Order: sequence, then C-alpha cells, then structure tokens
Amino acid sequence: MGLLYSKMKIFHFKDKIDSLAPGVDKILPPVQIRIKPTNRCGHNCRYCAYRAKNLQIGKDMNLADSIPKDKMLELIDDIIDMGVRSVTFSGGGDPFCYPFLIDTVTKLSNSPVKFASLTNGANLNGEIAEIFAAKATWLRISIDGWDDESYSAYRAVKHGEFTRVMNNIGMFKKLPGRCFLGVVIVVDKKNAPHVYDFIKRLKDTGVDSVKISPCIVSNTGVENNLYHRDIFQSVKEQTIRARRDFVDSAFEIFDAYHELHNKFDKDYTWCPYIQILPIIGADLNVYSCQDKAYNLEEGLIGSVKNMGFKELWFSDKWKFFRINPSIHCNHHCVSNENNRLIIEYLNADLEHLDFV
Ligand code: SF4
Repeated sequence: MGLLYSKMKIFHFKDKIDSLAPGVDKILPPVQIRIKPTNRCGHNCRYCAYRAKNLQIGKDMNLADSIPKDKMLELIDDIIDMGVRSVTFSGGGDPFCYPFLIDTVTKLSNSPVKFASLTNGANLNGEIAEIFAAKATWLRISIDGWDDESYSAYRAVKHGEFTRVMNNIGMFKKLPGRCFLGVVIVVDKKNAPHVYDFIKRLKDTGVDSVKISPCIVSNTGVENNLYHRDIFQSVKEQTIRARRDFVDSAFEIFDAYHELHNKFDKDYTWCPYIQILPIIGADLNVYSCQDKAYNLEEGLIGSVKNMGFKELWFSDKWKFFRINPSIHCNHHCVSNENNRLIIEYLNADLEHLDFV
C-alpha cells in the first residue's frame, strides 16, 4: 500500500496547482469536497470542536440544519458534472444520521466520483454499511473512550454504546467490499494511558488503520501544546511501541499526534486550499475549509441556497481571496503545511528552475 496521508498528493494535480494563484485567469473544479449533510448527531462528545464555545470553528452552527434531499441530489449532479474527484462526508453532525445518505451515495456510486465518510460508527449497520463496504473508498470512525464506561462519559451516551460501535466495526470488515476502515483515536489527558492497548484491540477487531490525533482544546498552538505537554511523551512512546508490535502489510498506524505549532501561524496572504478542498455545510453555505466551517464572518465563500454549486464555484475568482490567512486564520489549520508547499512551488523563480 502507498502512503495514505502524504502532503505530496496534491502535486499529482499539476494543472490545478497552476490555476490557483490570484493572477491566473482560470478556475478549475475542486479536487475534493467535504459535505456536511446534517448537523444532527446521536452522540454529544464533550470535546466536539463544533460545539465548543471557545473555538471559532462551528461558532455559527445550527444543530437543526440538514441538507434537503432535492438540494443534495442537485449538489451531487453538479459535483459529477464538474469533474470533482472525491467527496467526503463529515460533521457538523454524524453523516450516518442523515436520512438521505443512501440516495446520496448510491448516486455517487454510479459516477466516477469517489466517496468516503467520517462517522462515530453508531449507525454503521444494515444497508448503508453494505453500500459503504462495497462502494466507498474509505471510512473513518472517531473514538475516544476505551471501554463502555469511559466511552459513555466522553459522549453522554447510554452504557453499552461502545460495545455496539466495536461490534459494528467488526461486522463491517466482514462485509464484501474493499472499503478501507480507519479509526482515529482523539487523544486527551484521560485516554492517553490507554493508547497502546486500544490500538491492539482495534487491530484485533479488524480495522485497517489507526490514526492518533490530538484533541484540539484552544484556538492557539501554544495553549494546545501546553494542554498536551504532560502526556506528550507517553503517547509518543506508546505509538512507537505499537508501530513496532502491530504494523504489518494489513495494518497501519498513522501518528498525527504532534507539536501543533506548525498548524497555527501563517505568513502567507492567500490560501491555495480553498480552491482544492472546500466545504458545503448543512446550512447550504460554502466554507473555505474544514477549520473555518460554520464561521460566517471569516470562512464564508458563498451560498448554494439560491444557486447551484457549479454556478457559484465558477463565478468571480475574487471570492477565493477574501480570506487573508496571515490575518484571518491564526487558529488550527490542517492544510497549513500543504499551503506553504504550494505557495513555495508557485513562487519558484522560472528563470532559475533549471538549476535544480
Ligand atoms: S489558511 Fe487554513 S484555515 Fe485559513 S482558509 Fe486556508 S485552509 Fe482554512
């Protein structure tokens, strides 16, 4: 298997990269779109970034929003027509709570557009699980608690929900299909001592990969690092040990538990990734990125309430440059390093390219 999380993937889309800069009179379709079909969720995670009062992400989110079926099918038609390469479903809420998810992914299944989803795994069963197993490229389940008691405390769900989700995971891997199943462990101070044992349990349950990610607790890198300082070494050591003991040709561990400084500070003035991986929210607004979703003041690109996504996307290129990352994005940004690489690539002096 090749690298799943490489920052270099985008450099396989050279025409797209060359179209991005403000001075280029060209707009190409996004490579990937994240759709948040609904803001409803059956869980109530205490660290959920969308519900946390102190984070800018999700600050304007309405929990009742959900994309109407007709609008969703229209969006998918546009996405197919535009030549977008992939769609990921994510929250807001849990995409598997969306009542029209089967209609949506069935339409995508009959097109060249690949799809994937994030979920809490609670509704990963029945027909929708079968469709994902057979047709989706990947599925990633977020988990924090390591047993029934801790899981219920994290998520304010009834006792036994952890067992149910773990059963769903095990059953999913037995379904016919090639969907790659990952789990992300969202690490905080409580579950930090359980990382190694939990990775082992997940491997035994049949998942293909485990990603270790830090729980984001603040808009600043300094405060996040301060929160994780006491557990950082232990989590790192457990991850290294788990990699040594468990990784093989059928199981991968991706360590995204790292110092967060390089995800916060930005010294560039326009954002390449807005044109590469935008977000369509359950409120029918289009946002610049995952990290500014449901921030109307700073993240809004436009609305598809009264127009199609395709029409909005190919109108006036200026809408992609209203956000100045050096001013507006001094918070967590998953695309920060990719943005830096792309801008450095685009800024290379053409006269000197041959002197490699
Ligand atoms: S710089 Fe990061 S946070 Fe800002 S708009 Fe771009 S992807 Fe989003």
